[in-house]
Amino acid sequence: MTAARDALPWQAGLWAHMSRAIADGHVGHGLLFCGPPGVGKRAFAERTVRALLCRDRTADGDACDRCGACHQYKAGTHPDLSQLVPEETGRLIKVEAVRAFAERLQLTSQYDTGRLGWIEPAEALSASAANSLLKTLEEPPAGCHIVLITDRVSAVMPTIRSRCQLWRVPPPAPAEARAWLSAQGIAAEGLDSDSLRTPLAVHTRQSRDYDRLEAAWDADLAELLAARADAVEVAERAAADPADLWLDWLYRRSGALLTASLGQGADAELPAPLARAGARLEPAALQRWCARVAETARLAHTNADWRLVIESLLLHLSEAVRRTR
Ligand SMILES: [Zn+2]
Repeated sequence: MTAARDALPWQAGLWAHMSRAIADGHVGHGLLFCGPPGVGKRAFAERTVRALLCRDRTADGDACDRCGACHQYKAGTHPDLSQLVPEETGRLIKVEAVRAFAERLQLTSQYDTGRLGWIEPAEALSASAANSLLKTLEEPPAGCHIVLITDRVSAVMPTIRSRCQLWRVPPPAPAEARAWLSAQGIAAEGLDSDSLRTPLAVHTRQSRDYDRLEAAWDADLAELLAARADAVEVAERAAADPADLWLDWLYRRSGALLTASLGQGADAELPAPLARAGARLEPAALQRWCARVAETARLAHTNADWRLVIESLLLHLSEAVRRTR
């Protein structure tokens, strides 16, 4: 795969700005990429990083994919690239990890393109971790760039935001999203406008691994609704999976369960055991639970402990089930 071929078509305008900024040396030391999950901001940030590290960029400003630096990047062995991510998905990034990261950025770079730091998700930086990063963002080592990724820019510490160049990655127009999904072999008919704004999330949901996860979550949820499973044990299993995907799945399921409980017919996507269980639930209790799920989905990534968040959501659902029976 080449950087240019990986490019998402709806980002052409933004890329023109970025490639010019890179060519003119106007690209910031701190680069904060934001946009909803599935809009393609990580792909755009990766394209930027590849271009910054490449020794022989193309006329479009993309990485050449042929030089030594490009080969090392693709092999995951580029010596000047450092990552800062939570130890576990959904947890905060700790201040000790930030210190080690800042020290790595201070080391002399192997190439004259300078060192590159990658922080994801940026809102996972705790207040103390963010404070510890400020000095590096204010006075970065020569040639160093720090890339930060976030789904929710408002959840990123203001002190971090104000020291970064902000790159908002736009959603595609519906027609662009449909064309792109078709090119990936995914049927785009019947997708709602929200899904079309985040086509990469649709792509992830349609991948094989997601099918496996979803089947396991659906099975656990059906057991929970039948009062045959323990919410704490189910939460334990779910907490090991990607929190953003799980929450997205729960959000869709909660809405479909509510529809079923109101007797408004089953959502075609909802597995039969869940549709049957949903029809037996008391709508008012389920409605309160749905509001809780929606609120948690809105706050995704700001929570310190996903295991507890998941557990709390499932315990509330168990409680609603118990009251119905
Ligand atoms: Zn290259």
